[in-house]
Amino acid sequence: MSRLSDISYIKDVMERHGTDFSKALGQNFLINPSVCPKMAELSGADENTGVIEVGPGIGVLTYELSKLAKKVVSIELDKRLLSVLEETLADCNNVKVINDDVLMADIDKIIAEEFGGEKVAVCANLPYYITSPVIMRFLEGEYPIKALTVMVQKEAAERICAKPGSRECGAITLSIHYYCEPELLFKVSRGSFLPAPKVDSAVIKLNIREKPPIEPKNKELFFKLIKAAFMQRRKTAVNSVAAGLSKNKAEIIEAFKKAGIEENIRAEKMTLQNFSDLSDALA
Ligand code: SAM
Repeated sequence: MSRLSDISYIKDVMERHGTDFSKALGQNFLINPSVCPKMAELSGADENTGVIEVGPGIGVLTYELSKLAKKVVSIELDKRLLSVLEETLADCNNVKVINDDVLMADIDKIIAEEFGGEKVAVCANLPYYITSPVIMRFLEGEYPIKALTVMVQKEAAERICAKPGSRECGAITLSIHYYCEPELLFKVSRGSFLPAPKVDSAVIKLNIREKPPIEPKNKELFFKLIKAAFMQRRKTAVNSVAAGLSKNKAEIIEAFKKAGIEENIRAEKMTLQNFSDLSDALA
């Protein structure tokens, strides 16, 4: 068992380096010793595969990834953790820590310079205040990535992994399904973190598709339609889309007809194919 999940060690190392848990940066560190080895194993990290990690914290997951991966590049925003990581990862000579905001970092450059442009795995216990933006950044960037294995809030995991067409489905479900096939790997209780958050978590794996399952003519409009349709869940998709796109309802009804979609359908019942046909009808 790594000492990095030991509560007294975590408190001691943070105190010695003059840092504490930042709520604003979503710093809930993993203390359940079984979680990180399992996540690292399931992430696809191996001697031929490099890993990008978001938010190493004090390095508990980084340490496990470094044992399996060819190389690990960890992006951490909190400057105060850099000296902590120097100490905790002193034995891991295949790890590089970059002090940056993952939402601003040049991912293309990191993959080209640190991994020779080869496909990487992404693995992270994500800061929950930016779960969706981080996931969407990695997906929309269409970088050479095999899969994203990430810990997120349990409710977010269930929504992301919901079946399109089911009641749990949201705009994020469909947007993510366009890029990848998601699977819920395992749940993690709130007591597995220090400090304990108010919610439980789950680890999901987003396996990137070789090619999207549908090819809308106008991708931007396609994603806009998904967002608009789910904006007012209690309304019919026609009404929600008309309001979201500031369009005349008659024009939207006409597009639904042209796409062969029932006029009274609700957004959660619509498939990726429906949204693709609708955006083609409106394009
Ligand atoms: N990996 C560690 C663990 O599992 O114990 C820490 C996970 S903690 C939930 C999230 C980490 O992400 C923190 O270390 C936090 O400082 C970092 N973080 C927050 N916002 C970030 C951002 N925009 N870019 C990079 N790292 C960020």
